Amino acid sequence: MIRQNISLKPYNTFGIEATASKFARFSSVNELKDILTETPDKEILILGGGSNVLFVKDTIDELVLLNEIKGFEVVEDNLDDVVVSAGAGEIWHEFVMKCIEKGFCGVENLSLIPGSVGASPMQNIGAYGVEIKDVFEKLEALHIQTGEIHTFTNKECEFGYRESVFKRKLKGQYVITQVYFRLKKQPNLNTSYGAIDTELAKMGIANPSVKDVSNAVISIRSSKLPNPKEIGNAGSFFKNPVVDQSVYQKIAQKYDSVPNYPAENGAVKLAAGWLIEQTGWKGKTKGHYGVHKLQALVLVNYGGATGAEIYDLSTEIIEKVKAEFGVTLEREVNIYL
Ligand SMILES: Cc1cc2nc3c(=O)[nH]c(=O)nc-3n(C[C@H](O)[C@H](O)[C@H](O)COP(=O)(O)OP(=O)(O)OC[C@H]3O[C@@H](n4cnc5c(N)ncnc54)[C@H](O)[C@@H]3O)c2cc1C
Repeated sequence: MIRQNISLKPYNTFGIEATASKFARFSSVNELKDILTETPDKEILILGGGSNVLFVKDTIDELVLLNEIKGFEVVEDNLDDVVVSAGAGEIWHEFVMKCIEKGFCGVENLSLIPGSVGASPMQNIGAYGVEIKDVFEKLEALHIQTGEIHTFTNKECEFGYRESVFKRKLKGQYVITQVYFRLKKQPNLNTSYGAIDTELAKMGIANPSVKDVSNAVISIRSSKLPNPKEIGNAGSFFKNPVVDQSVYQKIAQKYDSVPNYPAENGAVKLAAGWLIEQTGWKGKTKGHYGVHKLQALVLVNYGGATGAEIYDLSTEIIEKVKAEFGVTLEREVNIYL
């Protein structure tokens, strides 16, 4: 059923007030198809957990659709691995917990990332040395214009760092309905990311299980990132920029401690949070919004901020970083202007 003039405040983790002129929920592909036949212009905005969006405009004129397709099923059971299919409206962290309960390995480093399974391929979610592309098998998505279901393989999703074909070439064209993951039956843990090993050592665990790694990740994340139920935010607001060697060398001449990581073709990945911190923004507030005190990558709404205020703050930060380092930060969060 399509409803009119619905507040989107409960549906975005920034807690921004915006109104959907038209709003509907669907919990199956057939329900989605029915709604689309009632929507001649096919102008759609799909929402999962709303944990990676910023509404800048007050009214969203597209039809806002909340994806609630549930389901968890092992569809292939092999000697070494399984393929698990999950409905796009499953909550990502609950999906991870179900995989761990069943002893499947591969998504434990991605514990506690907010949002839905269906949004996970959108930006190839990643944390602690793992991205979903590492375990992604395929997805099914409904083409909004034709109503046809198309299957996309790992390669066809064109995953990159917080990127996929659905954020670029095919933006706004598909609703992801089902995602398939290939997971290992035997532990094949990735604790190379320093903080996980340190946390496991603190927990006194020498031979970790899949569950231990998940617990370590949950513990690190809970101590570092603001809980959106308490402080409005959308996680990292900016991507870590990838720059040429020459740009990196210039920065390193002035700041010899600049964190840097090798990227493709000799390029260098910098830490956006560090760059922002150097410009003095970490922990700064502008009344009821600002930059988080523990993590400069995270912009926060302490209550009552507008999307425009958060957006303008992000522009100010981009300009400051550009002036100081000559590096242009790109927003990771999906902006609705
Ligand atoms: C505290 C916090 C920590 C975070 N940490 C991480 C992290 O470690 N790593 C990371 O990668 N991300 C992180 N994020 C970002 C966010 O959790 C992910 O991007 C997540 O995948 C968003 O899921 P969602 O369901 O909330 O998507 P939404 O915010 O609802 O949507 C995001 C985008 O995807 C589109 N979309 C959503 N569902 C579908 C669908 N089924 N079909 C087509 N399009 C769709 C939307 O239209 C929108 O453009 C964090 C966010 C928060 C608040």
